[in-house]
Amino acid sequence: MKLFQQAPPALKNQYDDDRVLGSYLARVLPADVLSDVQESLVEMGRLAGGELYELQLADRLNEPTLTQWDAWGNRIDKIELTPLWRRAERIAAEHGVVATAYEQKHGSLSRVHQCALAYLFTPSTDIYSCPLAMTDGAARTILNSGNQALIDRAVSHLITRDPEQFWTAGQWMTELTGGSDVGLAETIAKQEPGSNTFRLYGRKWFTSAIASQMALTLARPEGNPAGGRGLALFYLETRDEHGRPRNIQINRLKDKLGTRKVPTAELTLDGAPAQLVKGSTDGVRNIAPLLNITRLWNGISAVALMRRGLALSFDYASKRVAFGAPLSEKALHRDTLTTLQAEFEAAFHFAFYVAELTGKSETGEISDDDEWLLRVLTPIMKLTTAKQAVMVTSEVLESFGGAGYVEDTGLPVLLRDSQVLPIWEGTTNVLALDTLRALTTDNTDPSHGLMRFDAAIKQILEGVGDVSVVRAALDHAASWLAEAKGEALEAGARRFSLTLGRTIELALLIKHKMNSAHRFASVGVDLIF
Ligand SMILES: Cc1cc2nc3c(=O)[nH]c(=O)nc-3n(C[C@H](O)[C@H](O)[C@H](O)COP(=O)(O)OP(=O)(O)OC[C@H]3O[C@@H](n4cnc5c(N)ncnc54)[C@H](O)[C@@H]3O)c2cc1C
Repeated sequence: MKLFQQAPPALKNQYDDDRVLGSYLARVLPADVLSDVQESLVEMGRLAGGELYELQLADRLNEPTLTQWDAWGNRIDKIELTPLWRRAERIAAEHGVVATAYEQKHGSLSRVHQCALAYLFTPSTDIYSCPLAMTDGAARTILNSGNQALIDRAVSHLITRDPEQFWTAGQWMTELTGGSDVGLAETIAKQEPGSNTFRLYGRKWFTSAIASQMALTLARPEGNPAGGRGLALFYLETRDEHGRPRNIQINRLKDKLGTRKVPTAELTLDGAPAQLVKGSTDGVRNIAPLLNITRLWNGISAVALMRRGLALSFDYASKRVAFGAPLSEKALHRDTLTTLQAEFEAAFHFAFYVAELTGKSETGEISDDDEWLLRVLTPIMKLTTAKQAVMVTSEVLESFGGAGYVEDTGLPVLLRDSQVLPIWEGTTNVLALDTLRALTTDNTDPSHGLMRFDAAIKQILEGVGDVSVVRAALDHAASWLAEAKGEALEAGARRFSLTLGRTIELALLIKHKMNSAHRFASVGVDLIF
């Protein structure tokens, strides 16, 4: 008897196969730039749909390990990464997944090129995007600090294409006292007499990518006041020339829902040597460039995970037969995937729009209005796309029926890994409150900021067709903001920020003439009540 066999979902070259990425790049990149970057994208698409994807499936049950002691009683706190991550590190360096943004071969558009590489690379490498995001953010922060000694020491390692020289960076902010309210941090910095070196004492509660060679962290120099302003931003190198931790103990690795390839540690800093990056106060403000970059990566990762789920789901729909026809021919299944695709396309255009603005800001090609817009859009984009990723990947699992819930299909990890996106780099609520703050950067009244936001959307939509849904949502947001005061304003901040996020997503879909605009508008952008 011939038994039924189900053809599994398969991936092709992830660049060639991506209509949304291809058409977007063709619109925003001049022809000569597109032709120059295309080879790198085709190659990354080939790796992502081929070698890396196969390695990812084979690596599924491997996890990083921590060995705290050697056979002779020495504390070594050695971290062993999985084969996928070791391969990912080399490929990331060689293909310039961080470096491209700093080489600036194509000016501000290099950031778009780099984000396209990251978008292709991310879904096949089990959140190797996490150390890369922090590496990118650390490079930007150190460059912005103007601290020449640190620039000379660290930046060339962070942005090199040579895997032997490549460093990744950690970002250690969260303590037991709070990840959102980091001003409560308890880590103390004691200056060594007659030296620029400080010694850090404290506990860091979530430190991802603990295998990194360096980290940026927050600590309170002795005598500084309480609160965020009293913290300073420090640079430290994690291990000495023999590979031993520099007065850092790795107490354990976290046992997490997802991101299981990421070695996220709890640390004790027991006199870890560190240097000030910029001044001896205002650490929270000084680490902001890092957070802006990691939030951009968060958005790119969100769209990358959505895209991977949908690529597999569309392929499977053409292979899985139910009630006499492939799922792809069932009106309701098609309709379900069409809605998810619209969410993905909306998020895609938002994340890449923030990439465009980030690139302009980095190369100084940005107007004051756009610099302000970038400040406002970064938290909105991060919070909006993260929520979309959780929803879309959850639906993707359902679109496979029972197979979507079974581990060795490689599908459940998409949902588990997406679930971190709304939590780290600022939770949804924290970023919603930050959005209100961002709207008041040039005037104490957020309604004034919303008017500037409205003007920016008008500019995006200049000369395009039906914008009535966008207009209605913005008018509703304005009338809500004019009424909401005190606690009502705070309580409604999440709905308000998500509405702004979805509204600008719709505006971008319309501007880019995406067919999905209609579906996205029908699902709804206005969440305010
Ligand atoms: C896998 C993983 C890896 C991580 N890696 C790192 C890392 O490498 N480095 C690092 O520094 N951190 C890292 N984090 C920590 C992460 O950034 C924090 O968990 C996050 O910022 C939230 O902080 P918290 O856990 O202390 O929660 P809390 O700050 O206690 O927040 C709890 C809840 O309260 C809400 N909340 C807080 N304040 C307000 C408010 N004012 N109004 C309304 N709601 C509010 C939050 O939205 C949240 O839902 C990681 C976390 C995870 C899960």
